[in-house]
Amino acid sequence: MNRETLSAAVEQYGTPLYVYSLPEIRTRAQAIRRAFDDRFAISYAVKANPNPALLRQLHDVVRHLDVSSLGELKSAKATGWPPENITFTGPGKTRHELNEAVRLGIGAVIVESLAEAALVSELSAPMGRRQRILLRIAPQKLPPGFGVHMAGRPTQFGIDEEVVDDAVAQVLTFKHVELAGFHIYAGTQCLKPDSICENYKNCVEIFRRLADLHDLHPRMLVFGSSLGIPYHEGDVPLNLEEIGHRTTPLLNELKSHPRFAAAGLLLEMGRYLVGEAGYYLTRVIRRKSSRGAEIAIMDGGLHHNLAACGHLGSVIHRNYRFFPIKPLGAHDAESPFELVGPLCTSIDTLGHGVKLPSLQEGDVLAMQCAGAYGLTASPMCFISHPLPREVLFEGSDAAPVFIDASTRFGI
Ligand SMILES: *Cc1c(COP(=O)(O)O)cnc(C)c1O
Repeated sequence: MNRETLSAAVEQYGTPLYVYSLPEIRTRAQAIRRAFDDRFAISYAVKANPNPALLRQLHDVVRHLDVSSLGELKSAKATGWPPENITFTGPGKTRHELNEAVRLGIGAVIVESLAEAALVSELSAPMGRRQRILLRIAPQKLPPGFGVHMAGRPTQFGIDEEVVDDAVAQVLTFKHVELAGFHIYAGTQCLKPDSICENYKNCVEIFRRLADLHDLHPRMLVFGSSLGIPYHEGDVPLNLEEIGHRTTPLLNELKSHPRFAAAGLLLEMGRYLVGEAGYYLTRVIRRKSSRGAEIAIMDGGLHHNLAACGHLGSVIHRNYRFFPIKPLGAHDAESPFELVGPLCTSIDTLGHGVKLPSLQEGDVLAMQCAGAYGLTASPMCFISHPLPREVLFEGSDAAPVFIDASTRFGI
């Protein structure tokens, strides 16, 4: 989306505003499929952006969804997703959630402990089902360079690799579950191709070892994608073709093994698909100078995008990238601005020392990489400001079409 398109969206819907580009999401999905030579099907992790209007548009973009709660499952169902194409992940699924998922015909439950596998078997029995499950494995190692890292340490996610052999043996004795494969997701937001390739190799080794040991013919193997996006100045975007080129032989080798001939390989992801396709647009409400700092107080902030303010798992606050949507004049010199939100708390800071041309009240800034872990990953009720509008962009910059996608969340 170019500046004119973003301006047109602001003209029509005001600020604060989220805009998600459907053509961009489609392009990214295609690029992933092409890079891996169609070896991977894509599973979209709904928690990255559960906007219902968006979910409705993803039918011809990805084949599978991964949900993390009954709420997400219901939303997926309400937006036309067949339950058999959905997997259900999460460390604390309740008996009620699992019962509903089995009853609705979920494609696979990703079980994160032996006790959960036993519970799924117990719940499936009276329904006359043999529920498909995948065992989530918590690997011992993960290469360096992941934004979030869950390997080799105590974790609520999955079954420790060190004890998974026993777990598999036990699960195979449960009558009302079918062990359809394995799932690994141990790190995310990685921008290092070497580490991503190494991680896929590690996944394949674990999958092969377990299948051989227990004489299994897996139907489904989920690789946590770990594909990162360039949130910050200086981040280098991933070269997908390179990663695909280095990984496809590994996948071909795996698939050539009779044990894995029927295995569907899934790349499970959120941010890589939708993160860069989204912009968060906010307007300068007031300008201030204070003790040598130039401050722009915006109509958006932490209540709509906690991550940009550095409070969603990051250790240090690094600025997201911003640009003004009005055309720049040739003489617009840049200087540093403190970009803060309207909340009565000093942690509501979108950016420190962000280099921008002179800002005036009313100017609108676009924040990049806002399509994932934005609104629903933020404390949107905090201080009772209105919710931002959300729109989907369709078509092209020459002929933009906007689809209102605002959600109300019962507020
Ligand atoms: C959050 C999550 C994802 C998506 O992670 P991204 O970094 O957004 O790609 C995938 N799988 C599982 C199990 C998750 O919890």
